[in-house]
Amino acid sequence: MSVETKVEYEIVIGLEIHAELSTESKVFCGCRTTFGADPNSLVCPVCLGLPGSLPVLNRKAVEYAIKAGLALNCEIARYSKFDRKQYFYPDLPKAYQISQYDLPLCRNGWVEFEINGEVRRVGINRVHLEEEAGKSVHSGERLLGSEYSLIDYNRGGIPLIEIVTEPDLRSPEEARVFLEQLRQILLFTGVSDVKMEEGSLRCDANISLRPKGSTKFGAKTEVKNLNSFRSVQRALEYEAQRQREVLESGGTLYQETRHWDENRGVTVAMRSKEEAHDYRYFPEPDLVPLVVDEAWIERLRAELPELPRARQARFVEQYGLPRYDAEVLTTSPQLADFFEACVAEYGQAKPVSNWIMGEFLRLLKAEGKAVEQVQVSPKGLADLLRLIDQGVINANVGKEVFEEMFHTGKEPGAIVKERGLEQISDTAALAAIVDQVIAANPDAADNVRNGEMKAIGFLIGQVMKQTGGKANPKVVQALLRERLLGG
Ligand code: ADP
Ligand code: ZN
Ligand code: MG
Repeated sequence: MSVETKVEYEIVIGLEIHAELSTESKVFCGCRTTFGADPNSLVCPVCLGLPGSLPVLNRKAVEYAIKAGLALNCEIARYSKFDRKQYFYPDLPKAYQISQYDLPLCRNGWVEFEINGEVRRVGINRVHLEEEAGKSVHSGERLLGSEYSLIDYNRGGIPLIEIVTEPDLRSPEEARVFLEQLRQILLFTGVSDVKMEEGSLRCDANISLRPKGSTKFGAKTEVKNLNSFRSVQRALEYEAQRQREVLESGGTLYQETRHWDENRGVTVAMRSKEEAHDYRYFPEPDLVPLVVDEAWIERLRAELPELPRARQARFVEQYGLPRYDAEVLTTSPQLADFFEACVAEYGQAKPVSNWIMGEFLRLLKAEGKAVEQVQVSPKGLADLLRLIDQGVINANVGKEVFEEMFHTGKEPGAIVKERGLEQISDTAALAAIVDQVIAANPDAADNVRNGEMKAIGFLIGQVMKQTGGKANPKVVQALLRERLLGG
């Protein structure tokens, strides 16, 4: 009889992230970077790689890359250079990509994020600047099996940063949460619009297993085609399990590149991993080295905004908000700004937070809008909350008014007047309706008399119905109690 001891494995993950920088023009020419323009309408001899054309480095792209590096706590190289990375693919018209190889612009950074109440730190190996390739559009679902492919070079030459993490992540969930944090940092820094659906943020994930306690890394696979945060986690979960099964059945893992098939939920072998020498890197002869001085870096550092985790902590501290509120309110800098502007108008934070997290985000989501596309002004929301505080309208009517403000940008006071939504608090007027409702619902009234307080809610509802939702619920309840329970 043999006793099998199961080896416990540790998962090791490192990510390579590409983010398109939101400059107005491309990185080595003056072509626009507008998303969604007609195919091949934003091109020129430089980004089409025509013979004799020469690249000129976009200063703004360098600044955005440095800002990203600073936000990721990197050292900024005073001296870096560009290199040609050669490979043959139709979306790369020069048959090389201008990138950075041995002297990247940013190195040795880190990012902190929180998972299950624990703060984790991931090392950033490097951030370098390079150019985007064009976009192939296959006639079928993918290259394999397509009759033909079309290429749009509008995207070719848009500036990209590649961010390479150390292999510090220890679970697929951690990889997803880290990536969300990274996305938020870039979003707040304003260097990229980081939309995974539009491809302005992309991630390749490297994963390996090793026996728990081992200090040596195992052979890794690189997983490509991860188009959402969810697929990053799913693909890594699948891949960890696949590797575990290979190892447990006595097999060997080789370094390879695998493709995530979203529909089937599996990774498929693509090719054995290329080595750096396959790319025949050499220094780009058409660009001078990039020299960055201290003053420039300090100016850019001074321009950095408060970053998401710092802002969250401040929201908890300064406004006394629950952590959850602080997290939701800092999902974008625009939302956080809107919140702070509303609090400045209204004076109290928690009611503002409740309205933003409730009605405001509900409407944004329902209409697929971004904060900056909406008409509600901070003063408008503050005025609405004051109308509710003063009893001019009740909270439910407030929601109706807010919806109209959301669509039209009108002042809440004007909406209330126009639509006659003032709350009815007048005891005499409400007493008449309360008496009618009691007379029309004798069973419910008896139930209340017998102490069944659920029934009082029903009667309040009936009064609300009669008044088009405008009755002051406190006054109605007091009247019902007085009538049915004698006070
Ligand atoms: P390569 O030489 O194959 O390009 P690098 O050392 O440049 O590998 O690392 C590329 C990415 O892979 C980095 O994000 C790194 O953290 C990650 N990585 C490296 N080794 C491993 C490993 N054994 N397991 C998981 N990820 C790894
Ligand atoms: Zn161009
Ligand atoms: Mg490498």
